[in-house]
Amino acid sequence: MTDDTRVEHHRSIPYQIKDYELQPGFAAKPLDGGRGINVTGICPGCGGRTTTNWHYGIGSGYKSFRRKKTPPPEPAAGRTVCCDCGHGHSDRPADEPFLGCGAHWRVKMS
Ligand SMILES: [Zn+2]
Ligand SMILES: [Zn+2]
Repeated sequence: MTDDTRVEHHRSIPYQIKDYELQPGFAAKPLDGGRGINVTGICPGCGGRTTTNWHYGIGSGYKSFRRKKTPPPEPAAGRTVCCDCGHGHSDRPADEPFLGCGAHWRVKMS
């Protein structure tokens, strides 16, 4: 296999919140012996390489799910990933926790 993921064609587009379709080609790896997952792929908005880590059972735990609000999404149905490409996009709000272009999309876990 060739490692062509190092080639990055990043576009310095202005920050914009944008909803994308489910994106194929994202690689999910277990973290910490299965206590979390790491998802890496190319942002459909800016073309930057973005990495997202999830940890299970920390902080916002399952207790809050007892309230009758939106049920927790099934992991099998995919997870929402926000662009965290690490590039500074113009017009990015100061309270945006992700350093990216504002794109978000779903990734199927398998
Ligand atoms: Zn970007
Ligand atoms: Zn992006």
